[in-house]
Amino acid sequence: MRFGIDLGGTKTEGVILDAAGREILRERAPTDASRYEAVLDGIERLYRRMVDAAGGAPHTLGIGTPGAVSRRTGLLKNSNTICLNGMPFARDLRARLGRELAVENDANCFALAEALAGAGRGHRVVFGVIMGTGCGGGIVLDGKVHGGLQSIAGEWGHTMIDPAGPACYCGARGCVETFISGSGLENRYAERAGSRRPVDEIVGAWRAGEPAATGTMHDFFARFGQALANLIAVLDPDVVVLGGGLSNIDELYARGVDEIRRRVFSDSLETPIVKQRLGDSAGVIGAALIGV
Ligand SMILES: [Zn+2]
Repeated sequence: MRFGIDLGGTKTEGVILDAAGREILRERAPTDASRYEAVLDGIERLYRRMVDAAGGAPHTLGIGTPGAVSRRTGLLKNSNTICLNGMPFARDLRARLGRELAVENDANCFALAEALAGAGRGHRVVFGVIMGTGCGGGIVLDGKVHGGLQSIAGEWGHTMIDPAGPACYCGARGCVETFISGSGLENRYAERAGSRRPVDEIVGAWRAGEPAATGTMHDFFARFGQALANLIAVLDPDVVVLGGGLSNIDELYARGVDEIRRRVFSDSLETPIVKQRLGDSAGVIGAALIGV
């Protein structure tokens, strides 16, 4: 059996897959992201419940998390769940659970699951994008995650597309994430409109012709086009799979693709830009697939 656990900012999810990759159990628990020890407690409780549910059967274990384990120090870095940064997350979990396990960035888990079992299936070079609360990405080459020398491969969310742009939590300005994410879209709308609205309302207001929403979405599609044109110029993937809440904006697959085509360094844009197929499950399935 394969156990996967996906640590999210608000919920932690566990899945058990059988030898054929079929899902036989799923568990969810809220994440207490206020303290590092509380995060570890939550994962340990969930894992013990899964072991009981599986009747103690032998299994692999993989954990997906925001951020990445530094190869140099073994400490977690780059997580927007801030309490994890600088902590020996993988080592502490091994000690608590008394077993070997693999830890991988959540966007990489998403990309792997979509590459092997979702919208990227059959393609050699897959770039997976998560446009959720934040903006992440992962690269899968020939069915394997390409993490990179510093475990930052695919982190397009923190590449800069506007040096005069909004401040990002990472310390830079004008990162892709400040434009192409749920929080980014809401912040950019609030700057124009003077009041905050959730993403689905902003999109609805844009479709209804409201001026502030129209300006916000015009800018959003242009930024999306620029960010993906940059990415495609570096990686030239066989497919780009979009995931996260913003991937449900249908216009991304027509107008958004046009905005990429206008900017890409090529006489045509042949890259398929497709919506994820595994839904919210991709991250936790990817975690199960990387398990050891
Ligand atoms: Zn940033």
